Amino acid sequence: MFKARNLIRENIASLLPYSSARDEFSGIDGIFLDANENPFGEWNRYPDPHQKELKKKLSQLKTITSKKIFIGNGSDEIIDLALRIFCNPNQDKALTFSPTYGMYDVSAAINSVKLIKAPLTSNFQIDLNLFEERLKDDELKLIFICSPNNPTGNNIDITVIEKILTKFKGIVIIDEAYIDFSDAPSWLSVLNQFPNLVVSQTFSKAWGLAAARVGVCYASEEIIEIFNRVKPPYNVSSLNQKAAINALENYEIFQKNIQIIKEEREKLKIELIKIDFVLKTYPSEANFLLIKVTNANQVYNQLVNQRIITRNRATIVTNCLRISIGSPSENIQLLQALKKIEI
Ligand SMILES: *Cc1c(COP(=O)(O)O)cnc(C)c1O
Repeated sequence: MFKARNLIRENIASLLPYSSARDEFSGIDGIFLDANENPFGEWNRYPDPHQKELKKKLSQLKTITSKKIFIGNGSDEIIDLALRIFCNPNQDKALTFSPTYGMYDVSAAINSVKLIKAPLTSNFQIDLNLFEERLKDDELKLIFICSPNNPTGNNIDITVIEKILTKFKGIVIIDEAYIDFSDAPSWLSVLNQFPNLVVSQTFSKAWGLAAARVGVCYASEEIIEIFNRVKPPYNVSSLNQKAAINALENYEIFQKNIQIIKEEREKLKIELIKIDFVLKTYPSEANFLLIKVTNANQVYNQLVNQRIITRNRATIVTNCLRISIGSPSENIQLLQALKKIEI
């Protein structure tokens, strides 16, 4: 039987977590003289280390118990914690499928964990035959799958992910930062079927809260309990918890904005392909489009000269730019600027 406990680092297994003042007394009524807080001011109290209200709202939205929810200081904290929990530095390995999100690489390097990069196919899918042997490597502890993938925009095939979840004895993190822009269902719906699955989401994209740094992951109670032990006690500030709660209370705004962004994505796609130096627009289930042009550096620079900043991804996907979907008027300005480009 799968036990996450058997996969975690020895120092994490034997860790005695920090016990905060709010852990030792969790009531809300009284005169609080236990945390060396300043009695004056509006933001003078430490935040709820367990983010109870936020988790309660999320648990209602996602119909999942709070015990299977972890809140991080952005998904970036979740990526870092996963590496620190499951991978021994200078010994264990993690695996990603490139091209993908750059933070897996950076975070692995910071933690001195070797990262294997398995290349995606030409249509940005996983070819299991290429690395199936690697799944048997005892030192491989973590696999990151980004779906919809950044910067390519596509979802990874469900059947391939299922095979990885079944065959791999370590932890599989599915990064769903862009899932709300996709028509595909979240892997959250099958969380109970895979004890080694961690589903990572964020308030930074569809919820419009990149400034607040709130990441969420969902996994078995056993895995979430380990994340909770390792995180800094006050990892998510009160202001950020409030911002996320506020967004959840305005669900209609969230839905409306997603709808606009998805419509804009499809409109933009149709217009982009009409431009003669645009060779290809890749299918996207996210809030950005990856496009192939005849000369990415030139297009990028000429857009910058017109005050429009895109992401030049030419170093990781030949002659490709990644363009975030802006507001309707921003997208019109983008198209106007593109029409002025001379190559
Ligand atoms: C933007 C993005 C995130 C979000 O990270 P935060 O730290 O939550 O802002 C996570 N994963 C991927 C693949 C992303 O592109």
